[in-house]
Parts: sequence; structure tokens; C-alpha cells
Amino acid sequence: MISPSADLHDVWKSHQPLGVACKHCQHRALVARERIGARQGNLHCVDTLKFRCTKCKRHIVELHLFPDHRSAKRFMAEYR
Ligand SMILES: [Zn+2]
Repeated sequence: MISPSADLHDVWKSHQPLGVACKHCQHRALVARERIGARQGNLHCVDTLKFRCTKCKRHIVELHLFPDHRSAKRFMAEYR
């Protein structure tokens, strides 16, 4: 799980998409870094991002920051 203090610079640095998991229906998705403005020097906290589950339309999500491609793949594999 992501640390509460992680910012968009951290996401950019990880070279991986951000993982979003819905706490209501367990739906999971990977969001490309470009879509959330993750770039070098962007120190906005990931907590300020507003995500809405594409399945149940709720806002209660859990964010995951991946250290490598394998953990991003595992995140989605656990869901399917
Ligand atoms: Zn949901």
C-alpha cells in the first residue's frame, strides 16, 4: 500500500502506473502516470487526487505505488 506522504514525484520516479483499488467493490485499475500529472518535481500528495471507481462510482479508494513492473502485474493478477 502507498505511504500517506507519497507525492506525484514519487509516482513519476517509480516508472509504474498508480494502482487504485476500490474499498467498496474491490475493483482495481492501473492509472497511467500521465493521466494524473505525475512528473518530476510535482510534489502534490497522492491523497489530493480524486478517484472514482469506474464500477460502483464510489470515492473510497486505496492507492498503491509499485516499485517495479512485477508488483504492478501482481496487483492486477490478484484481482482477476
Ligand atoms: Zn467500486
